[in-house]
Amino acid sequence: MMTKQSPVLYIVIPCYNEQEVLPLTAPLFLQKLQSLAAAGKISPESRVLFVNDGSKDDTWPIIERLAAQDAHYLGISQSRNRGHQNAVLAGLMEAKDHCDITISIDCDGQDDPGAMDAMVDAYLDGCEVVYGVRSSRDTDTFFKRFTAETFYKLLNAMGAEVVFNHADYRLLSRRVLQELAKFKEVNLFLRGMVPLVGFKSTTVPYERQERLAGKSHYPLSKMLALAFDGITSLSVRPIRFITGFGVLVALVSFLGVIWALAQALLGHTVSGWASMTCIICFVSGVQLICLGIIGEYIGKIYMEAKARPRYIISARTANWPPQEGDGV
Ligand code: UDP
Ligand code: MG
Repeated sequence: MMTKQSPVLYIVIPCYNEQEVLPLTAPLFLQKLQSLAAAGKISPESRVLFVNDGSKDDTWPIIERLAAQDAHYLGISQSRNRGHQNAVLAGLMEAKDHCDITISIDCDGQDDPGAMDAMVDAYLDGCEVVYGVRSSRDTDTFFKRFTAETFYKLLNAMGAEVVFNHADYRLLSRRVLQELAKFKEVNLFLRGMVPLVGFKSTTVPYERQERLAGKSHYPLSKMLALAFDGITSLSVRPIRFITGFGVLVALVSFLGVIWALAQALLGHTVSGWASMTCIICFVSGVQLICLGIIGEYIGKIYMEAKARPRYIISARTANWPPQEGDGV
């Protein structure tokens, strides 16, 4: 391994059905790698590592072709689609024994590779984690911007510490990767896990671009699912809310009972029917919501108890894993 002066960098790129955009962006990552190496900031043994997340289109053949053309490109393929978070983790865990730092980035050109210089500089200055943070969301629609920003605020309010406007574009040092490997959870939310690992960190701003080609795999429904997963994987605050809410409802119910008794004693029982019905409906609704949230946690415990593998690699490009002295 190289010293801190000239670290081996692996750029880890998850790809799912990206045949339109990959041929456009792959050279951009390689150029960035080469310019960083030419500037002496990273080792010439640095690589671009694609993680095919069980794509159904030509993504994997494209990655294999790239790897055959240029030894700087490496690829691994998951045995099926497991989602963005698992794909990134698969790449990071595969890379961690071969490099000093990784930078994870989307393959669609939305994250500006230009920010990598500042990320590597921050690492050379002693940071172990560098978060890429979107400086503006001008290219996003109002709806995407609003939902995404609400997402970060909601996560923080619910007790999952995340860096505002940071997605999965980040630099991690080997040390952090080794510690991250000890987090054995199956429900992955890397944005929440990395801050838990700790170490010195900083942020680097970048402009979020539009997708160069192809279309997003993150519609609102998936974003909501990710937010919900993020909260329930990282925080038990919703359970505390339920307890607090339960106490409140119980108090209100207690007052309701006194009121109902008073009504009965005064002989107005029939007129109380509507309000009783309302209370029953309301309370049973609240109970169902609470049961659902508790069920969500139990479901997560169930999945964690199974301790299934978090990724399964089915193929690797011929040049992976690299041999010592493979430097190009
Ligand atoms: N991705 C993945 N597996 C999935 C969905 C997405 O590996 O199941 C990758 C995708 O190829 C891209 C990144 O995750 O590199 C982000 O996805 P996308 O651009 O669709 O999301 P958005 O940027 O619109 O939120
Ligand atoms: Mg994208």
